[in-house]
Amino acid sequence: MNFNTILEEILIKRSQQKKKTSPLNYKERLFVLTKSVLTYYEGRAEKKYRKGFIDISKIKCVEIVKNDDGVIPCQNKYPFQVVHDANTLYIFAPSPQSRDRWVKKLKEEIKNNNNIMIKYHPKFWADGSYQCCRQTEKLAPGCEKYNLFESSKCSSDSVVVMSEGYIPSNYVTGKKSNNLDQYEWYCRNTNRSKAEQLLRTEDKEGGFMVRDSSQPGLYTVSLYTKFGGEGSSGFRHYHIKETATSPKKYYLAEKHAFGSIPEIIEYHKHNAAGLVTRLRYPVSTKGKNAPTTAGFSYEKWEINPSELTFMRELGSGLFGVVRLGKWRAQYKVAIKAIREGAMCEEDFIEEAKVMMKLTHPKLVQLYGVCTQQKPIYIVTEFMERGCLLNFLRQRQGHFSRDMLLSMCQDVCEGMEYLERNSFIHRDLAARNCLVNEAGVVKVSDFGMARYVLDDQYTSSSGAKFPVKWCPPEVFNYSRFSSKSDVWSFGVLMWEVFTEGRMPFEKNTNYEVVTMVTRGHRLHRPKLASKYLYEVMLRCWQEKPEGRPSFEDLLRTIDELVECEETFGR
Ligand code: ADP
Repeated sequence: MNFNTILEEILIKRSQQKKKTSPLNYKERLFVLTKSVLTYYEGRAEKKYRKGFIDISKIKCVEIVKNDDGVIPCQNKYPFQVVHDANTLYIFAPSPQSRDRWVKKLKEEIKNNNNIMIKYHPKFWADGSYQCCRQTEKLAPGCEKYNLFESSKCSSDSVVVMSEGYIPSNYVTGKKSNNLDQYEWYCRNTNRSKAEQLLRTEDKEGGFMVRDSSQPGLYTVSLYTKFGGEGSSGFRHYHIKETATSPKKYYLAEKHAFGSIPEIIEYHKHNAAGLVTRLRYPVSTKGKNAPTTAGFSYEKWEINPSELTFMRELGSGLFGVVRLGKWRAQYKVAIKAIREGAMCEEDFIEEAKVMMKLTHPKLVQLYGVCTQQKPIYIVTEFMERGCLLNFLRQRQGHFSRDMLLSMCQDVCEGMEYLERNSFIHRDLAARNCLVNEAGVVKVSDFGMARYVLDDQYTSSSGAKFPVKWCPPEVFNYSRFSSKSDVWSFGVLMWEVFTEGRMPFEKNTNYEVVTMVTRGHRLHRPKLASKYLYEVMLRCWQEKPEGRPSFEDLLRTIDELVECEETFGR
């Protein structure tokens, strides 16, 4: 072993299948990690036996591979991945300890690389798609947030990898850590009055920062609300508390403790959970005019429009024309150019920062926005087969009931995630879901109804208001909630099981209001079983509290899917 060697071990490597036709094989290789390169040899660590190498500086992600269900066709059962350039190397370690060691050491070596991925694929690329999100492009952007500083949880492995810990020890302890510095919300050396001054200047609802507490070694979250408490604006300062457990956990709200401070912040960005408001808007002492060109990267919602190329038109909607495009000549994306006067742009841009963090395999991912120009662009995940409504209509008579149910299940999964993150869709319908190449349905346009400027759409008496998807409390009092989304979901199930019929086809919006108020509901679609129709009817309970949550619905649908698989039809 050379004195530069950090780690050396015989592991198994899966062939990279750079060509589609090349076979998948698994070979034993001697892996050697040094500061500058990861090399693998056949047999001995000598140049003439060298089979390949990766420059450490080119590595974008190192992480274990989650493999809850799949069989691993070689004797080493603990996979991890090394993503570099346009390739992913899958390596199999003989034990969890060995894998931990490799992942930990590699992560340490790459931590200063400037190309670290923001999102990655937690599962294998296999049979032409990623097993996690079913995307069929090898270069498709990741579907799960990548955290260089923490271990990924692997449900199938009983060994707790945290014991050795991927988290640098100074990262989560009370000690002052340089690592928080990378976060926009961390303001070192900022006392209470300075924090209040900064938050007041920004004057943003949910403006927040994390600062060093007056008690050495601890941290405080300072939060600003415009509508706080008894209708007055104000500041709240919350200490980040530590549990007495080992390892220590950190929390703002006792019920929601996490292993690190960034995790707490991430959680409370989506959940107030006892705080006066969510952590909506990071306020920073760091340079305000940081470059905003990097798209697809941490806390950067701006995409540089010169990195976009435009291809064919995909369709058009309320906000304007949507085109297929490429980002950095590589990733396929959908680009929506917002028509002048169609959108309340300022509010949307603010909210886009929150929306970008909503990430789920059944939500159409928002990648970023181009706001330094007119028209502004919204850049999202590209969905090959377009909108669900047309997909249903164009293939009428060709769907099995299982396929229809699986579409509802996809949507329900996406919606359950939104519900869990207290995010209300407000316009759930088949026209606002999209279908990808693999036939996966994803929820799109969540929350976007709030930014439409067209009165005909926003006012419940307007001709374009989606009355047929709305419960009484929405068409009467505009009272939106996750439970109003549940009502819309019931209508979406109906659209799916009628293969794209228009609800209340023969009635005007006005008539529908009267009918629904009197208790009239959509009829049972021929393709829907009695049981499934009962699920729809539960979504259409007059009182919101009488309706199931998406969590309940998901459980019911999962059970149905399982029954149908077991008993067939
Ligand atoms: P708007 O929100 O302005 O009403 P939509 O989101 O409904 O617009 O988009 C209009 C049409 O463009 C859709 O019906 C669909 O055919 C196409 N489209 C929109 N987004 C995508 C996407 N991400 N991938 C593929 N096609 C899309």
